[in-house]
Amino acid sequence: MNATQHRAVDAQLDKAAAVCAGRGAQLTPLRRHVLGLILDADAPLTAYQLLDRLRAARKGAAPATIYRALDFLLAQRLIHKVERLNAFVACAESGHEHPAQFLICRQCGAVTEIEDRVAASALEHAAEREGFHPRMTVVEIEGTCAACFQPA
Ligand SMILES: [Zn+2]
Ligand SMILES: [Zn+2]
Repeated sequence: MNATQHRAVDAQLDKAAAVCAGRGAQLTPLRRHVLGLILDADAPLTAYQLLDRLRAARKGAAPATIYRALDFLLAQRLIHKVERLNAFVACAESGHEHPAQFLICRQCGAVTEIEDRVAASALEHAAEREGFHPRMTVVEIEGTCAACFQPA
């Protein structure tokens, strides 16, 4: 990661801190550190990968430390959990609840968040036709990303 990317992450962290402050919540140094690790990563990180990275700077960090920080970041909608990978990514929309679709590359592991409201509402309407009351529509799509794709 170069200096420009570091500054971009710092700017995202400052924005996240402002989002939290606007809700009366506090992005403590620990929470900021964990969010920074997620923003720095090229691919989603599991709680244990995060714990390993956190311990490089905070030796005594325990699993509960990470889980509490992740719960906070999820509640503030600054990150998403990609269930299929049991791992966490930063939210591209940073801070508001929204339907999301994740494109998961099986070759390089990259995850891209897209926000297609038409697709989300089509799924919600399909669910409603079954008498189901959807609350949040998150779709995870596995495949090959543009960089990895090799035309046959
Ligand atoms: Zn998001
Ligand atoms: Zn890929």
